Amino acid sequence: MSIPMVDLKGQYETLKTEIDSAILQALGETRFILGPNVQAFDQEAAEYLGVNHAISCANGTDALHLALLASGIQPGDEVITSAFTFIATAEAIRFIGAIPVFVDIQPHSFNIDPARIRAAITDRTRAILPVHLFGQPADMNEILALAEEFDLLVIEDCAQSFGSRYGERATGAIGASGAFSFFPSKNLGCYGDGGMVTTNDETTAAKIKMLRNHGSSQQYHHDVIGVNSRLDELQAVILRIKLKHIDEYNRKRHEVARAYNERLAGSRFQAPVIPDDRDHVFHQYTILCDNRDAVREAVLAREVSCAVYYPIPLHQQKAFADTAQPELPVTEATAQRCLSLPIFPEMTERQIATVCEALLSA
Ligand SMILES: *Cc1c(COP(=O)(O)O)cnc(C)c1O
Repeated sequence: MSIPMVDLKGQYETLKTEIDSAILQALGETRFILGPNVQAFDQEAAEYLGVNHAISCANGTDALHLALLASGIQPGDEVITSAFTFIATAEAIRFIGAIPVFVDIQPHSFNIDPARIRAAITDRTRAILPVHLFGQPADMNEILALAEEFDLLVIEDCAQSFGSRYGERATGAIGASGAFSFFPSKNLGCYGDGGMVTTNDETTAAKIKMLRNHGSSQQYHHDVIGVNSRLDELQAVILRIKLKHIDEYNRKRHEVARAYNERLAGSRFQAPVIPDDRDHVFHQYTILCDNRDAVREAVLAREVSCAVYYPIPLHQQKAFADTAQPELPVTEATAQRCLSLPIFPEMTERQIATVCEALLSA
């Protein structure tokens, strides 16, 4: 039995009737750009997340870009973030001319370590951009307290955390704005590219709506220079259907994580801690081990997928050669030792057992 990282085909089969007919209907309506499904999805996503505004866009990278553009952060300003993340997080910061300042992570959560943020704050710091990596919310209380003390914005990278909650609030409803990705393999994914910015602030929402549509709120009237970054109507159709199932999907991911943790307890593989003070939607289930590359090869040889997120931290990427290169010992050690296992809502007991057998015999 070969086991993929995610089973998009299996999930599609369960939704096929509903998705196919809704797509056909949207094709018949031919309102492909900012059509009725995009408008409905923006509203439904905002309601689900408990946030005043959700503005969909073309992808998660654009969502970060739009959130940063709307924030007023200027070229040369500094934004504190994690180096243990996908390139898009810091790419968007660099793209607006700002400077990513990388801070080390906590070994148990893989998220930015708030205890190390203070030392990285300078008089050019304008924002903190935490990533809720692998679906687990960062330490938002500590981050918000620092932001308040130093008058900084908090922009959340929620690309992996749709539906994850921290206390009463969903990720994306905590900071000044949140950026989501609907890349197909994300825990809420469409069938192409998609993204979304959330905010509780009306002015920010209005700016982002303009920015995503050529700086325009009235056709052929352009108030600012914007971009073309709109969610596709067909992707909105798919997301509206999947949004109805997201709680169930996230719950099932959590169950898979629990099953893994039980099977790996006492082994040489360090299982992720399942937090009890916040949600974790397990976009990824990531273990730590020694001789990671050898383990990875042995697991792959048994036709069980596994992957390294992320092998090269951002401060060591060529693209960031022009930014300061701090020493980030926890980030660097984690990049050497991390291994993500298959996880998806449709995963069976038997598949979980097969993954663990492959791992435990590696
Ligand atoms: C996927 C991802 C993004 C970018 O999303 P795209 O839709 O692929 O542009 C940004 N940040 C993180 C942490 C991600 O995992």
